[in-house]
Amino acid sequence: MSADYKEELARLQESGRLRQLRPLAGRQGSHVQCQGQELLNLTSNDYLGLAGDASLLRRFYEGMDAGNLLEGYGLGAASSRLLAGDTDLAHQLEQDLALAYGRPAALLFNSGYHANIGILPALLSKNDLILSDKLNHASIHDGMQLCRAAHKRFAHCDYNQLERLLATYRHHYERVVIVSESVFSMDGDVADLARLVQLKKEFDALLYVDEAHAVGLYGECGLGKAEEQGVVADIDLLMGTFGKAFASIGAFVICGQDIHDYLINHSRSLIFTTALPPVVLNWNRFVFHHQQTMGEQRRHLAALSLQLRQALQQHGLPTGGDTNIIPLIIGADRQAVRLAAKLQDHGFLIFPVRPPAVPEGTARFRLSLTADMSWPDLQGLPEIFARELAVSSRGRTGGGDTR
Ligand code: PMP
Repeated sequence: MSADYKEELARLQESGRLRQLRPLAGRQGSHVQCQGQELLNLTSNDYLGLAGDASLLRRFYEGMDAGNLLEGYGLGAASSRLLAGDTDLAHQLEQDLALAYGRPAALLFNSGYHANIGILPALLSKNDLILSDKLNHASIHDGMQLCRAAHKRFAHCDYNQLERLLATYRHHYERVVIVSESVFSMDGDVADLARLVQLKKEFDALLYVDEAHAVGLYGECGLGKAEEQGVVADIDLLMGTFGKAFASIGAFVICGQDIHDYLINHSRSLIFTTALPPVVLNWNRFVFHHQQTMGEQRRHLAALSLQLRQALQQHGLPTGGDTNIIPLIIGADRQAVRLAAKLQDHGFLIFPVRPPAVPEGTARFRLSLTADMSWPDLQGLPEIFARELAVSSRGRTGGGDTR
C-alpha cells in the first residue's frame, strides 16, 4: 500500500474516525452475537423486527410455488430491467405500491442509494434548482453532486429560510425541487410535510420526500409520514426503501405517470445496473403486504421509544427527536468510540456515528429501537450510559484516556 494511504489510515485511527467492518452472527430477534458475546442490537434498521422473524420467513419459504422456483425465486435477474431483466414480479410489486399509495405509478430501484443518486440527475437540467435540507442523507447529497442543476441547502427544518430562498430564487429557474427526509436518519426528528406541501404549491415547485426511515412505521397502513400527515397526494416524488423496516433490499419511488416514464428513460442508476433478483421481488411484495397489518407493532414501538427517550431525559442525557431513532449526542469522536466499547461490555451493541455522517463536533450514538424489543431490554441503559458518560468526561477533562 502506498505511504499516503497508510498515513491517512493512521490519521483516522488517531482522530477516532477509523471505520472497520465487524461481522455479526447468531441473530436471534433483536439480539446478535459479536466476538462471542450476546448483545442487544441497538444499531439495526430492522425496525419492525422482520429480519429475524423466523416464523415469517418460514411462511414465506413455505409459500414458494415449487413449479415456479427459478422464475419466481431465482437469485439473479442477469440483466438490466431495460434489457432482459424485467419480470411480471416487478410490475406486480409496482402496481401494489401505486395502489396502496393511491397514486398513478411506482418505480423500483435497487436500493435507496440508487434511487437518490438516480432521480434528481435524471429529472433536472442546468436551468433548475434543488433546495435541500442541510441534514439530508449522503445519498441525496451525492445525487445533487451528479446533477447539472444548481443546489442550495437550507438550515435543518428551517422552513422560513426555505421560504426566503424560494421567494428570492424561484423565478431564476425553470424547475425547483424541494428535497427533505421525512424522518431524519441521524436525529430522529420529523419534517413538517404539510408546510413543505404549502411551500411547494405557493412557489410552484416539486416536492421530493425520502421516507427511508418512515415506511413501515407510520400511518395506518405503514406507508410512512406522508400517510400519517395526510399529504401523500401532494408529494411529487415519495421515496421508500425496502432495506430498513421491510428487512430486504431495494427501493421505490411513488410518482406521476410522466415522471415514472421519464425516469425509465433517463435514470442511469436504473438503466445501467442489473435488476433485483426475483426472490427479492417476491419477498418485498410479501413483506409489503404483511407490514400493512402491523399496526400493533407500530404502536408498541412508538410507546417504547417514548419511554426510553423520557428515561434518558430524566438522567439529564443529551437526546432529541421523537421517533424510534434516538440520538445521544456525545461530541468528540474518540469519546464516542470509547463509550461504545464500554456499552458493549454492558451488553449493548451501539456503533458510534462520527463525521462526515453527522456534522463536526456532534459524534453520537444513534439508538434505533425495533418492534421486537421490550422495556426490560432497555431499562438499564439510561443509568449505565449516564454513569459511563460521566466517567469518560472526567477522563477527558483530565487529559487521560479511560480505556
Ligand atoms: N435515504 C436515507 C435517509 C437513508 O438513511 C438511507 C440509508 N441509510 C438511504 C436513503 C439509502 O437507502 P438504502 O439502504 O436502501 O440504500
